[in-house]
Amino acid sequence: AAKDSGRDTIRFFTPDMEILANNKRQILNDIRQALTNNEFSLHYQPQIDLATNTIKGFEALVRWQHPKRGFILPSEFISLAEESGLIVPLGNWVLKQACLDAQKWPSHIYVAVNASAVQVERSDFLAEVKKIMTQTQLPYHRLEIELTESTLMANDNAALSLLNELKAIGVQIALDDFGTGFSSLSYLRTFPLDKIKIDRSFISLLESDDKAYAIIRTITQLAQTLHLSTTAEGIESETQCSILAGLSVNYGQGYLYAKPMSAEETLIFINNYQA
Ligand code: C2E
Ligand code: MG
Ligand code: MG
Ligand code: MG
Repeated sequence: AAKDSGRDTIRFFTPDMEILANNKRQILNDIRQALTNNEFSLHYQPQIDLATNTIKGFEALVRWQHPKRGFILPSEFISLAEESGLIVPLGNWVLKQACLDAQKWPSHIYVAVNASAVQVERSDFLAEVKKIMTQTQLPYHRLEIELTESTLMANDNAALSLLNELKAIGVQIALDDFGTGFSSLSYLRTFPLDKIKIDRSFISLLESDDKAYAIIRTITQLAQTLHLSTTAEGIESETQCSILAGLSVNYGQGYLYAKPMSAEETLIFINNYQA
């Protein structure tokens, strides 16, 4: 390791880093393999209308069943997939599978799909969306695309015209993890959004921190003024749910309702759900 060579010596490439680099190369190869071997799957988490207690939609969350390492969460591979560009074929697979699965749900239920900056940046993203929606026959209004502030920031003009085009064909746009990025307010003014998803970090502090409560209340009032709907992410307790409903937050998502579920479990959830 680096410390063997003494404190004052700077070594840019240590054995540890070599292991890391090899690991990374290995994971990239594995992602390529995984795409051809069908190791990815989608799990779905419900988004519930807090006023009526009904299911509005499901967010698709990608999962990886690695033959040797087992079940891998997106936090371990999405950023590598983005760096390498593999997020493009992976993202297209996610979108198509999500549309196919949503076809099996009642027609008032939409599917929300996360898109990364690397996908949005590409000039053919809109064409891909249209192609996949034509192939799968899912109506445009049943698709919601979730983007983060950093995605919008990285792209501005390209993202603005893309969002305008998506909106024109009826696709819904949600701003994910709201409140954790930079200059959030300018995004609300500039981009044609339908919904903001209030980041889980505020929800988890809701009961213990007056400031978190005030921030959520203010975000909700602002959203109402701008005719945007709101979703609270990461609801884990009944108390959080009732406080959020009292603040007129529109929708809720979190372990209180369900953890992300396989496509089969999702169908059962839809059939058994009692408002
Ligand atoms: P996200 O889009 O903000 O998704 C919500 C994350 O919060 C999910 O983590 C979900 O499992 C987790 N979550 C939901 N409810 C609760 C709760 O009550 N408590 C707690 N502690 N966590 C909750 P997950 O599935 O690990 O995904 C992490 C992130 O990976 C996502 O954050 C999204 O940014 C990214 N991601 C997932 N699937 C995709 C994908 O298909 N494409 C892209 N580009 N990104 C994806
Ligand atoms: Mg999301
Ligand atoms: Mg989120
Ligand atoms: Mg997140």
